[in-house]
Amino acid sequence: MAVSSPTDAPPSAATEANTTFDFSAAAGPLPAPVIERIAAACHDWRGCGSALCLPFSGEACRELMRDTRARMCRVLAIPETHDVLFLQGGASAQFSLVPLNLLGQAALAAYLVTGHWSRRAMEEAGRYCEVRAVDWNDASGAEVPWFDARRVAYLHVTSNETANGLQLRELPRTSIPLAIDMTSDVLTRRVDWSSVGVAYAAMQKAIGVPGLTVVVIRRDLLGRARPAVPRVFDYAVQSANDSRVNTPPVFALIVTNAVLEWIEAAGGLSAMSTAVERRSRCVYRVLESCASAYLPVAPAAFRSRTSICFTLRRVADVARFFEAAKAHGISGLTGHADAGGCRAANYVGTSDAAIHRLCGLLSDFANRG
Ligand code: PMP
Repeated sequence: MAVSSPTDAPPSAATEANTTFDFSAAAGPLPAPVIERIAAACHDWRGCGSALCLPFSGEACRELMRDTRARMCRVLAIPETHDVLFLQGGASAQFSLVPLNLLGQAALAAYLVTGHWSRRAMEEAGRYCEVRAVDWNDASGAEVPWFDARRVAYLHVTSNETANGLQLRELPRTSIPLAIDMTSDVLTRRVDWSSVGVAYAAMQKAIGVPGLTVVVIRRDLLGRARPAVPRVFDYAVQSANDSRVNTPPVFALIVTNAVLEWIEAAGGLSAMSTAVERRSRCVYRVLESCASAYLPVAPAAFRSRTSICFTLRRVADVARFFEAAKAHGISGLTGHADAGGCRAANYVGTSDAAIHRLCGLLSDFANRG
């Protein structure tokens, strides 16, 4: 099984053996070289003092934000037609802020419902406008109807459902702007920005720590916010003020900046996408080859590369499986509360060593019966 990666610093046998690898979906691991840099930055960041107390009003923080925006645009190939905002409130806040900022004169918004998070987004939008659910049929794939752009402001999709492991490899084609929740697969896939009205992602899974939400917004959609929207949550006001209407999450920006730098040095988006694909293939291959023990949750064409969800064929085995995981130095395999089963997150910072250990657990457990 090929699990070495050009993006991984080779772990020493001793360090690797003593490490517990955590696969929880809630927060992604940071690459080891980034953690080292951040640890040093807590004492001094670029000669400006501790990263923990960098004043947001100074030139150093302005430069940090400019540089992070520029790196994000380079890595994700975001064109000039779109702006990048650094906000707070997590992806959950965006469930409200997308309708509040984008509805304009339209009375309707459409939601492609693929699982837990898209349903949550739709329910929240239902507080502000009429919502039209677009059913997703796993047999036929996503058939998205043609919407009248004068009536329907956007079509919301969750590119990767973190809870049930369903990923839209191709985003739907439609005449209205897409609003995409990319929280659990941003920076692992290419995006065709010409179809995107807004894309958002909380950074704690892909490339950072909690506190920073990145919003990419098409500039011509700015300025539609309802009058009662707080200024800190008005995309146009934040855009006009370089995301500095209030104190930005400076430390979370420093971490994201360091991860983006690491991504660029490691070969950019295509290297991330290839590595995530390769690692997920390793895991699905073991799940498939041990089909009497495991069942992947999503249909093959929609299996997530970043949220690998599976169940055990025999429910009675579940407790023993988690015990075996512990013995292998693995934690965080419990599935989402709504979906149950097991789940292994495979984010940008997941190492090949972690996946190697996981594959060992899966085949050992299946073979010992
Ligand atoms: N969308 C998706 C796809 C998620 O996975 C999550 C968190 N698991 C959220 C939204 C909510 O993110 P937050 O906790 O940052 O609000």
